[in-house]
Amino acid sequence: MYKADLHLHTTSSDGLFTPTEVVEWAAKKKLNAIAITDHDTVDGIAEALEAGDRYGLEVIPGIELSCTYRDEEIHVLGYFIDGDSKPLVDKISELKEARENRGNGIVENLIQYGLDITAEEVMEKVQDGAFGRPHIARVLVEKGIVDSMEEAFNNYLVKGKIGYVERYKITVKEAIDLIHISGGVAVMAHPGIAKNRDYPKEILRYGFDGIEVVHSAHDESTEREYTKIADKLDLIKTAGSDCHGVLEDGNPMLGEYTACFDSVEKLKAKRDEIRLEAKKHG
Ligand code: AMP
Ligand code: ZN
Ligand code: FE
Ligand code: FE
Repeated sequence: MYKADLHLHTTSSDGLFTPTEVVEWAAKKKLNAIAITDHDTVDGIAEALEAGDRYGLEVIPGIELSCTYRDEEIHVLGYFIDGDSKPLVDKISELKEARENRGNGIVENLIQYGLDITAEEVMEKVQDGAFGRPHIARVLVEKGIVDSMEEAFNNYLVKGKIGYVERYKITVKEAIDLIHISGGVAVMAHPGIAKNRDYPKEILRYGFDGIEVVHSAHDESTEREYTKIADKLDLIKTAGSDCHGVLEDGNPMLGEYTACFDSVEKLKAKRDEIRLEAKKHG
């Protein structure tokens, strides 16, 4: 049976697997295709493509852009984006700097508050990745300051808590446009985790091509709800685990939430349509 996990993170953002390790796990789980969708970066794609070649597995270049809509953070997935597209490259470098400033700000806040962590310990986790709160949370867990990632977020890293620092984010509309300009297909990520469940519906008209219907954080009723919406609006239905490399009994959730052949084919058809349209308009 054809299986594609279309939402995966690597060490290029806040995942624990290198791009090569992601491909190795995908091969082990007998997937036909995967998409690399790191937060605000395309750095992991080249390595994943190379590994995909070696393992005979299709690697779809992707990205997951963090955006704002009203008071909510909304994630937008881009598939088949051209990582050399100038507007995308420029925006990514702006977002990288914003992530670094925000990350450093959080660490400073936590140190001033009296937590026993150092910037060096955090940077050891970040390495070349897109600096995110999970990097800080992992240090808090490892040092025994909190018992879990959940606790790290809830006690220190979410809005209203001592470590929280706002970060520059693009709007949903900007993200969709950037993805389209770079020849890619725009998909709304995990609508089921939005705190305000009206928002995903409000922004669908901004030009999304698809909805991530199946996701590790979606229950069955959420899946049904968004399947219905996607069918009604003739949007592509995608699926992905959003695996960050965490193991449970030695098993990552990579490959446990998958899309079928048809959904990948539809993404490709949409990509071709978007590119043809762009060519026509010079
Ligand atoms: P950032 O991109 O730095 O704002 O961090 C957001 C990322 O942190 C999300 O994409 C998730 O990977 C992770 N995350 C958010 N909330 C939690 C949570 N409560 N527990 C664990 N990880 C979380
Ligand atoms: Zn993440
Ligand atoms: Fe996300
Ligand atoms: Fe994600």
